[in-house]
Amino acid sequence: MLVLGFESSCDETGVALYDTEQGLLAHALHSQIAMHAAYGGVVPELASRDHIRRALPLTQQVLTHASKTLQEIDGIAYTQGPGLAGALLVGTSIAQSLAFALQVPSVGVHHLEGHLLAPLLEENRPAFPFVALLVSGGHSQLMRVDGIGQYALLGDTLDDAAGEAFDKTAKLLGLGYPGGPTLSKLADLGQARFQLPRPMLNSPDLNFSFSGLKTAVLTLVNKQPQLDDQTVRDIAFEFQESVTEILTLKCMKALKQTKLKRLVVSGGVGANTRLRQRLNEAAAKRGAQVSYPRLEFCTDNGAMIAFAGAMRLNAMQTQTETSTQAYSFSVRPRWDLAELKAPA
Ligand code: ATP
Ligand code: MG
Ligand code: FE
Repeated sequence: MLVLGFESSCDETGVALYDTEQGLLAHALHSQIAMHAAYGGVVPELASRDHIRRALPLTQQVLTHASKTLQEIDGIAYTQGPGLAGALLVGTSIAQSLAFALQVPSVGVHHLEGHLLAPLLEENRPAFPFVALLVSGGHSQLMRVDGIGQYALLGDTLDDAAGEAFDKTAKLLGLGYPGGPTLSKLADLGQARFQLPRPMLNSPDLNFSFSGLKTAVLTLVNKQPQLDDQTVRDIAFEFQESVTEILTLKCMKALKQTKLKRLVVSGGVGANTRLRQRLNEAAAKRGAQVSYPRLEFCTDNGAMIAFAGAMRLNAMQTQTETSTQAYSFSVRPRWDLAELKAPA
């Protein structure tokens, strides 16, 4: 089954072709980061308009790359939520129009399910059940995953998400927007010189809290006579040590609690080298195995949506509906992952 997937929940337009027999055939991405940078954050209306501009050229690009035609597509997947309403509407309406025109089934994918399943796009994909750490710009969650749509929340952030903490701390250090990746590069050049707290490291639950850490960075920054390059690197170093220590310890706790031996990491912060290093070391000590998406599939992309959609469309194949009514659509800017069900 050949599935075309669209991602447009925020500031990345992603399109991909996934084949249930042959795997990922092609994917293309346009990031709007440069366009929003001037405003210091994502401007929703600009995001929607840019998705409109990019979606069809990117679709053409993946079809050409995979040597496929629109007529060969068996199903369409699109991000239905959560995300920016206008941005979601662009991907959703294009996907539903194409599905109607081609008379193929379509499925609305939960963006976080996309992130969560992204590691399964790689070789040696982990088998269910596993513990998943989802650390993105908007979420920091630990889950027990027993299959597609079978997600039990084990822990969540009480305030900022891990990626959000990286971005906000980067801003405090004058590193621009979105500063998470820059902060992590500078951290790798820093040294142990400052001390920052490890919020909730020893709390009995699997929850996180990162907003106090950001405040601690602000206090530290204000104390510095001057914020020279080495000071920025050293603060970044300690910040990264704190976040990665907390994430690693909570993941190990989750493995212990669930008695599982497999951990799957996804979301933008999953691209962090220090986090990967710490998780690999800690997991090896427990005889556990860790899986990650390739770096480019940690952040938003079309491949994860095409894949999650293919898993669901494949399971629903028997009940394909092509009535006009089936192509009405809605988006879900707010959508709890726990509401998902396994495909029947
Ligand atoms: P969500 O999926 O929760 O709606 P999102 O789509 O914005 O949020 P992602 O695209 O998964 O999130 O990830 C983006 C986040 O990942 C940003 O906050 C960014 O700073 C962070 N990030 C990316 N690379 C790194 C890195 N190497 N180290 C730390 N953080 C990183
Ligand atoms: Mg993004
Ligand atoms: Fe995302």
